[in-house]
Amino acid sequence: MDVPLLLTQFLDRAVSLYGEKKAIICDDREFTYRELNARVNCLSDGLRNLGVRKGDRIAYLAPNTVEMLEGFYGVFQLGAIMVPLNIRLKPDDYLFILNHSESKILFVDQELYHLISPIKDKLETVEKIIVHYHDGVCGEAGYDNWLNTHSAKPFDREDIDEQDICSLLYTSGTTGNPKGVMLTHRNNYLHALSSMHHLRVSDEDVLVHVLPMFHVNGWGSPFYYTANGATQVCLRKSSPEAIFNAIEKQGVTIMHMAPTVLNSLLQYYEKNVPEFSQSIRVVIAGSAPPPAFVTRVEKELGWEFIQVYGMTESSPLSLVSTIRSHLKELPLSEQYRMKAKAGVQMIGSEVKVLNDLGTEVSHNGKEIGEVVVRSNGVMKGYWKNDEATMQAIQAGWLHTGDMANVDEFGNIEIVDRKKDVIISGGENISSIEVEGALYEHPSVLEAAVIAVPHEKWGETPHAYVVVREGKTVTEQELIQFSREKLAHFKAITGVSFVKELPKTASGKIQKVQLRNEYWESVGKSGRFV
Ligand code: ATP
Ligand code: MG
Repeated sequence: MDVPLLLTQFLDRAVSLYGEKKAIICDDREFTYRELNARVNCLSDGLRNLGVRKGDRIAYLAPNTVEMLEGFYGVFQLGAIMVPLNIRLKPDDYLFILNHSESKILFVDQELYHLISPIKDKLETVEKIIVHYHDGVCGEAGYDNWLNTHSAKPFDREDIDEQDICSLLYTSGTTGNPKGVMLTHRNNYLHALSSMHHLRVSDEDVLVHVLPMFHVNGWGSPFYYTANGATQVCLRKSSPEAIFNAIEKQGVTIMHMAPTVLNSLLQYYEKNVPEFSQSIRVVIAGSAPPPAFVTRVEKELGWEFIQVYGMTESSPLSLVSTIRSHLKELPLSEQYRMKAKAGVQMIGSEVKVLNDLGTEVSHNGKEIGEVVVRSNGVMKGYWKNDEATMQAIQAGWLHTGDMANVDEFGNIEIVDRKKDVIISGGENISSIEVEGALYEHPSVLEAAVIAVPHEKWGETPHAYVVVREGKTVTEQELIQFSREKLAHFKAITGVSFVKELPKTASGKIQKVQLRNEYWESVGKSGRFV
């Protein structure tokens, strides 16, 4: 008989093989897998008593906490659907998502409750709001008390199909309004198997959750660390100091993060040169890490670097940059260059790069096309948005909106989002490539490059730059630097120096916001995004 691929199996495995092992460490609280499972059962029981049934949506507004992790499994046992909310949105955004997803119960972290109180009376479907208390009051006031009044016995699970939806994840909204991505148990299960293989996850791993679990990158990882009985460390705020402390104290072996967070970690390391333990074996990043970071992580910190590529719509990962053994004879510099590319398809994913004619681009590292993905992780569709689903998935292939080339070894390099490509004098310029060049300048802490209007060329690249503390650089120097590093038509034509760049909660730079501001400031509204 076929065994359905259900995410609840991952916790079952951990409980039976690693019951007394530390499952999660969060602030000053620790729980073994057996204890975590007991809390999960209480949660499922509590939710059933509140009338939650299969298919109901349960929303979570919380940073990475024990309550968030147990929420996953507690909700899944009922066959209900988890709707994790980005903690950096505005009250009106929550109103939209909670009403759009027709969520029935909302769990809110104590520190975030103020974001919900202004919209409480306008929630159309939420029947109950349950607050996660912590910081000393945990266990006294709300959630823990409620949890403890329910049964920790093995839960009588609903009959769940692997094709049932387990999560509604709203996209980052980097390019516009977030869309609700429907992922199934099967999507997440097979994605987890593939990821744990490529990242070589084992029961010896200690993960520090740097990426937020409400975002798809952080959302997918608890499944494969749980399945392997690894220990997971949660940080309320992932400042570089907190991350290094966790490495020291807990012997962290692996972490996933956005390049912007990796950047601040590198800065912190540089300033403090801490004598931290060498427990880290690998650091993983997506979202276009600049090549300079890859070399620094591997050479200076001695950590292995793995780049991954994915999107919410594909659970998320479909490409990984690990160097295949037959390429390990290449010079190290060549291998670093390869790791600065998104890489090759993961098990369970088929990835192609198609040109305008719909045929695969040649493997010469030059021809550019759109990345399309067919995989076990590709979503069922967007929640209540068939039109967007039909646009995104055509003949079974997910059209990512990301542009890429493929080199002679089959490595895929993401060049840009279609919307971020700068079109100058008929040439396409990758904003990612220009940013990569700027990051080589010793005074540049952060850079984002956007298209700005130009009378002669249509558009040219313009950089938003955050300068490193204690360093200086002028606009002219940076323009000149980019001319030395890049073909002249790709060089920046102007710089705006800023204190910080606008970012999404997962740490991505919101270029669309910079672009809108710039175009408005010069009285133009002509750009397509
Ligand atoms: P929205 O769809 O709401 O505008 P978003 O696309 O940023 O937001 P996510 O699903 O979190 O939401 O991000 C996926 C996108 O991130 C990809 O489509 C791609 O543009 C970018 N990305 C992810 N990994 C990489 C990578 N390794 N290199 C370059 N870009 C990447
Ligand atoms: Mg997207």
